[in-house]
Amino acid sequence: MSWSAIPDAEQLGAKAESLYRDYQLPAVRRWKKSSGGPAIGYMPIYVPRELLHAQGAMPVGILGGGDDLEIIRGDAFYQSYICHIPRSTIELGLNGSLDVLDGMLFPAICDVIRNLSGIWKMKFPDKLVRYLDVPQDFDREIGGAFYRRELEDLSAELVRHGARELSDDSLRESIRAYNDNCALVRELYTLRQEQPWLVPTSELYTVLRAGIVVSVEESTEMLEAYRALLDAETTRKPMDQARVVFTGTFCEQPPLGLIKTLERSGCYIVDDDFIQIHRWMRHAVPSEGDPLENLVNAFLEDSIESPTRYIDQGVKGKQLVERVTASRAEGVLVGAPSFCDPALLDQPMVVDALDAAGIPWTAFKYSENNGQFQVIREQAGTFADSIKLWSEAS
Ligand code: SF4
Repeated sequence: MSWSAIPDAEQLGAKAESLYRDYQLPAVRRWKKSSGGPAIGYMPIYVPRELLHAQGAMPVGILGGGDDLEIIRGDAFYQSYICHIPRSTIELGLNGSLDVLDGMLFPAICDVIRNLSGIWKMKFPDKLVRYLDVPQDFDREIGGAFYRRELEDLSAELVRHGARELSDDSLRESIRAYNDNCALVRELYTLRQEQPWLVPTSELYTVLRAGIVVSVEESTEMLEAYRALLDAETTRKPMDQARVVFTGTFCEQPPLGLIKTLERSGCYIVDDDFIQIHRWMRHAVPSEGDPLENLVNAFLEDSIESPTRYIDQGVKGKQLVERVTASRAEGVLVGAPSFCDPALLDQPMVVDALDAAGIPWTAFKYSENNGQFQVIREQAGTFADSIKLWSEAS
């Protein structure tokens, strides 16, 4: 059934969920059959999908195995005090789920991902495997020149693995395709801020996840269909819930059950860090002029804040405080994947910024394969109740 033929938002969300939970990547297999191009997986958080698309390759987001996968061999590659996503990702690689991929990109996120790229190289020597260095210097002459070289190298490597040569025209078209897609995601985020009861985060999340395992064209079709169904939705009514931002979910994702639990505990999530690649650029990337330079400059100058990104002159947490204000949130859930260095090293600075702004917060850790949510439900429920009491008292 095409996305536009689905009769309501709940059913669209269910289809999106079954798609992203199918680790055999059926949409990728379909796409490869019809296009003949290579499919290239990427780990969170950001890769230049436009470049891959322009060369006839399909970028495929790989965010681990969540709570669906039993880890049999993945644990052998990592110590116990390392987050969960690399274990389930290597498990997916070793159990053949990712065979349809012609390569994997590992963007510079943290040492764990760097090590995973090395493991992947050893285990899958015939595939394209690349650690994608992104600049931590944001001067166009330094970080920009470096990143452009990195993208040119990646482009050449893609050609060696079956992709076509890059052309300015095709890159301009791809930039426009992703701009359209990201604009729809931004619209949905705005709609959720305005009417969080209309756009449950647990449903929006499934759409965001499915959007990275289908082609950008199909993702846009799905987002348009979802938007139209929300416009027609009349049964969802507002409830007395606390408006919160859920931060810290930029890499390893919490299980869907945890997101539902937070909503059931009395929270409307009105902004979050889920699948940040959809919103990594705050604005549309210009498509006129030199498109590769535009991609580079957008990365340098228009990226959102992330624990994986060095902030030279900036102040960690400032952007989060701005997001709380913009989304009219009453508090912040500060999440972190267990053993995630980038998230946990940022947390003291982030909560300092929230304290300075007088914004209530509560923090907890999670893992993608958490099975028990009761403790977090009680914590988030108490937080939501106290927000309601404070805001009514003030
Ligand atoms: S969850 Fe954190 S530590 Fe683990 S791979 Fe992601 S950024 Fe690195």
